[in-house]
Amino acid sequence: MKKLLPLTLMLAAVAILAMKGEGSSASATGPPVEIRPEYLALGDSLAVGIGASDPTSTGYVPLFHSYLGDAVDPGRAKPAPLSSVPDAFNRKFLRLANLGVGGEGAPPGGETTDSMIAGGQLDAALAELSARNGNARPVDDVRVVTLDIGGNDMFAVVPDCMGGPTEECTDAIGTALATISANFDFILSELRAAAGPDTTVIVMTYYNPLVNAGCQLSPHASLGDALLEGDPALGLPGGLNDLIRTIAASHGAGVADVFGLLESADVNPDCRHANDAGYEIIADEFMAAFEKASAEPKFTLVYYDGHMHTTRSDGSGSVADIKATAQARDLDAVIVTDHCKSLTQDKWKSLVKETRDASDKDFLALPGFEVTGSDGIFNRDHFLAYNVSDPFVGDNALELCPEEVWESPLNPEGTGPVYPENLTAWADYIHSRGGIAVHNHTSGSTQLSYGVNTIEIYNQSHVDDIASYAIGLGIPPQDAWGFAMTINNFAIYGERDLMMLVDFPGAPTAIPLRLALYLATQALPPHIGQIMGWSDPPDPNLPGDLNSWDELLMAYVDGTVDTPTFGVANSDAHNTGDPDSSVGLAKNGLYVEKLTRDDFYKAIKAGRSFATTGPSLALDVNGEFMGDTAAISDGTAELNLSVDSESPTAILVKIDVIKNGDVLQSISPMWPTYESSFTDGVGEDGYYRVEVVSYDLASDAYDFAWSNPVFVDVP
Ligand SMILES: [Zn+2]
Ligand SMILES: [Zn+2]
Repeated sequence: MKKLLPLTLMLAAVAILAMKGEGSSASATGPPVEIRPEYLALGDSLAVGIGASDPTSTGYVPLFHSYLGDAVDPGRAKPAPLSSVPDAFNRKFLRLANLGVGGEGAPPGGETTDSMIAGGQLDAALAELSARNGNARPVDDVRVVTLDIGGNDMFAVVPDCMGGPTEECTDAIGTALATISANFDFILSELRAAAGPDTTVIVMTYYNPLVNAGCQLSPHASLGDALLEGDPALGLPGGLNDLIRTIAASHGAGVADVFGLLESADVNPDCRHANDAGYEIIADEFMAAFEKASAEPKFTLVYYDGHMHTTRSDGSGSVADIKATAQARDLDAVIVTDHCKSLTQDKWKSLVKETRDASDKDFLALPGFEVTGSDGIFNRDHFLAYNVSDPFVGDNALELCPEEVWESPLNPEGTGPVYPENLTAWADYIHSRGGIAVHNHTSGSTQLSYGVNTIEIYNQSHVDDIASYAIGLGIPPQDAWGFAMTINNFAIYGERDLMMLVDFPGAPTAIPLRLALYLATQALPPHIGQIMGWSDPPDPNLPGDLNSWDELLMAYVDGTVDTPTFGVANSDAHNTGDPDSSVGLAKNGLYVEKLTRDDFYKAIKAGRSFATTGPSLALDVNGEFMGDTAAISDGTAELNLSVDSESPTAILVKIDVIKNGDVLQSISPMWPTYESSFTDGVGEDGYYRVEVVSYDLASDAYDFAWSNPVFVDVP
């Protein structure tokens, strides 16, 4: 489909896009090894400052440079030796390299995306970035890159459009937009790759220069708007600025969105360039974009499995085996957690070394350990310790594990740990070493007094073990799996599921689940009543003494405990020597700033994650992410949720939004992805979290994901 553009539109294009002007290029870069942080500017005649009363001080680049002097982390910029750099903490310290091309130094028609790539400006910028950001010295890094380009590209369509709104003319516009799109994307991807993820990149949209009353094309100002922002009626669904915004977003670049901000008095009557007032508005927009980019942490989603065993304890594989499976399943990190009781100092040192050797910039392998009590067959007194430099308590030569100092012996009655205070002592010990304490395969047995940071709300090995236990009882596989999930989900639902009424073969009416479990297993030594500590037979009216995850979370909301209990999913793989081991079948999507050990553990501790066997999700409330607290000022919370089954054959069959332990909303998208924003009234402190069930049509299997909570605080 082709549509004709009116001639006046073409004239506007000529005026708007001819950014070539008079003046000289300001591209002095100086020696690349000068040890100061740098602001690197690229662009056309606007970056040069054509139209300003003094391009070297009143253009937007020098203005933005002076604003940045105070904003760019002066602490990090501190050089050594300080005495050699006077004015270390004022704006003069931040170096400016303006590579913009305009005026006499520019090619005919001004700098375009083509000439930026082929004519040397981009190459000069990449060389500068590689010299500064590619060396080992952070102090001389380019910290900020700005870019304005694309305006003059469309000027090239003018010869084709001189004869009126012909088909050739519309074709030329289409070609120009396609060229700008490809070139702009190439320029930004090259700049981002050379600068690295920490450098702030900001691009500019174009203002409409026809708004100046003295410009002879000012009667056509509305057409200028159409070219920049698109107008479906003219066959332009989007304009130059839309391209710029979309491509910027795909490269993590901010946008100084100046469209609509410059009025008649801010633009020169040359129908092209800003004047001092206009450049000041542009510089302000760059500063606003810089502050926005600096305020928003840039999170990357990585996946980790935090529970598995090597041959050092009862696993069958090595760290290298684990890494191979983990990478095949697209994990970015693993925490290897052998049972402490199987470790010696030498074995621990070898685990530390092997995990370090397996780590690089794309993969983290970290050493942890499992504190292992003897409660009963459901192993409800096992903790993981993350980020503790060695497992042994006191004199390392004695090789004493926490469970050997603070014992948790077998409880033949199956009523939980004999000494729950000793489990608290484990968590205290882990915390005293700066570590993170995880309660494993809990079956709902977590007590608030333990003070753990996270609980396993899903443990793959636990589910597999109970399912095979049930199959051994003669229960059909699908029912056995359901039984295993029920026991696993005690960690999430606690009492709620335990007292749920279910049909049971031979019973005339529905009976509580706990009684059904008892009847189903009563022939076994030990039967479930013994394991869970129930009377024999269980009194249906007696509570089961289980804590749900929601109860643990509400205890934080109520102020009963000082720290929230976040949820994780782990494989607890023991078959790690098997190339098809269970490593990564359960995992956590973790939002990190960087894939480093410190940031990784920081994100786990912050609860900035979801637990999953497949689907991915992101949840925020009023812009606060999972693990954070949103302050509610006007009585409403806006929830933003996106969910992906992560499989083209899997559909999302159920998404429950849970508020303070109750299902607020249940959605059945029946589609692989789901995205929604909605508001909810909030009258008291609380939290929101999300549970996802997906169903794979190809494999006839279910997968699950659980977000961590976003808390809400009503002042
Ligand atoms: Zn365990
Ligand atoms: Zn384990």
